[in-house]
Amino acid sequence: MKKITALMLSSAMMLSLAACGGSASTDAVSSEAVSTAEAAPAALTTVNAGKLTMSTNAAFPPYEMTTDSGEFEGIDIDVAAAIAEKLGLELQVDDMDFDAALLAAQNGKSDMVMAGVTVTDERLKVMDFSDTYAEGIQSIIVKEDSTIASPDDLADKMIGTQRGTTGYIYCSDDFGDDHVTPYDDGLTAVQALNNGQVDAVVIDNAPAKEFVEANPGLKILDTAYAQEDYAIGVAKGNTQLLDAINGALEELEADGTLQAIVDKYINAE
Ligand code: GLN
Repeated sequence: MKKITALMLSSAMMLSLAACGGSASTDAVSSEAVSTAEAAPAALTTVNAGKLTMSTNAAFPPYEMTTDSGEFEGIDIDVAAAIAEKLGLELQVDDMDFDAALLAAQNGKSDMVMAGVTVTDERLKVMDFSDTYAEGIQSIIVKEDSTIASPDDLADKMIGTQRGTTGYIYCSDDFGDDHVTPYDDGLTAVQALNNGQVDAVVIDNAPAKEFVEANPGLKILDTAYAQEDYAIGVAKGNTQLLDAINGALEELEADGTLQAIVDKYINAE
C-alpha cells in the first residue's frame, strides 16, 4: 500500500554540490588491508573477482551523477566506495538506465544496485535489500504559475516521471497509465515540463531540488507525494554479500562516515 505523507518540506534545506568533489574510485587493496584477517575479503564471491560491481543510473544528483570529465560522483558512489574499501574490493561503477540498474542486480550482472533505490514490497519479491541508509521523498515539480497546489490536483493532469521509478508506479496506480509519461531520466522529464508536454513531474526530492535550481520558472510543491526509504539492492538470496554490506554500513554509520558523505553533498543550512 502506498504511503502518501503530507510533509512540509523545509525550503531552508538547500542542496549544494561539491564543485569538484570526491574521487569515485577506490584504490586496490593495500598490504594493510590484506593483513586484516577479520575483513576476510577472499571469502566474498563477487561478479568480477576483486571488485564490487555497482549498477546505477548516474543522472540522479546528488546521489549519483557524472562530472564533466566523465567521472562518477555522489552520495551513493562515495558510500559504495567506502563499503568496497571495507570489504577489500575495488569499486566498479556500471552506468545504465534506472530500470536496467535494478535488473542487473536482480540477475546477478552486478553485485548491487545503488541508485537512490526505494524499498518497496514489489521489489522485495525479486531482490533483497540492505538496511536503509537514507530517506527519500517523492516531490511534485510544477511551473511557478501552475494551478496544481497539492497531490489531489494531479488528477486529470499529465504527469512526467522517470521510467521504472516509484514516482511512475505511484502515479499510474493513483491516476492511471494514461496520465503518466515515463522518461529515460529525471532531467528529460523536467525538460518535458518546461516544454509544456506534461503538467507536473513526480520525482525524488533531492534531484528535484537540483533540477529546479537549474531551471528557472519551476517550483517544488510544499506538500510531498510520498515518503520512502533508500537501500542497496542485491540478487535474491545473496545473503553473503548482503551481510557484508550491512556490516560495512553499520561501521560507516557508527564512525560518522555516512553522515560526512551526506554532508559533503547536501548542506542542511
Ligand atoms: N527512489 C526512486 C525509486 O527507487 C527513484 C530512484 C531513481 O530514479 N534513481 O524508484
